[in-house]
Amino acid sequence: MTAPARSCGSCTQCCKTMKVEAPSLHKAKDVWCPHCEIGRGCTIYAERPQPCRDFECLWLRGSGSAAMRPDRCKVVLTAPEPIPEMPRGVLLAHVDPTRPEAWKRGELGRWLQQGVNQGVTVMLILGATHRKVITQDAHVAGWLERALKSHPDLFQVR
Ligand code: SF4
Ligand code: SF4
Repeated sequence: MTAPARSCGSCTQCCKTMKVEAPSLHKAKDVWCPHCEIGRGCTIYAERPQPCRDFECLWLRGSGSAAMRPDRCKVVLTAPEPIPEMPRGVLLAHVDPTRPEAWKRGELGRWLQQGVNQGVTVMLILGATHRKVITQDAHVAGWLERALKSHPDLFQVR
């Protein structure tokens, strides 16, 4: 694995936004991890669970501007494994429930819209089960709608 293009700095947004399932930690989505010192980091960093070690949001990998760091824009972007039904790709936007409109705002909103205009599908993850698909591809929209009916927690896990 190549090294991340950036460092998290004082961002700890994924320690709230993302669900963690590990033998030593079962953390629900959208609640702060008890081991998180908000804006500072993980208090059990050396012993943190494997899913936390593995996780890199897209911003950390180099996508988007400084203003789009997740603690600033309140959205954590991730990308799942490639899905044949979505050859142009899909972005998952995990939105902080305290800022449900954050995905529309500022540089992030413009960046996401640009992606959609270029054929990318954006799935908004709004809470544990609420999903909203933004795409210009009717085939992709239909496939995702059917997939979410049979698997409401699709894309929920880290
Ligand atoms: S959301 Fe991204 S930048 Fe922020 S702490 Fe998590 S991995 Fe790092
Ligand atoms: S164990 Fe550490 S890295 Fe993992 S969610 Fe909690 S605070 Fe974040």
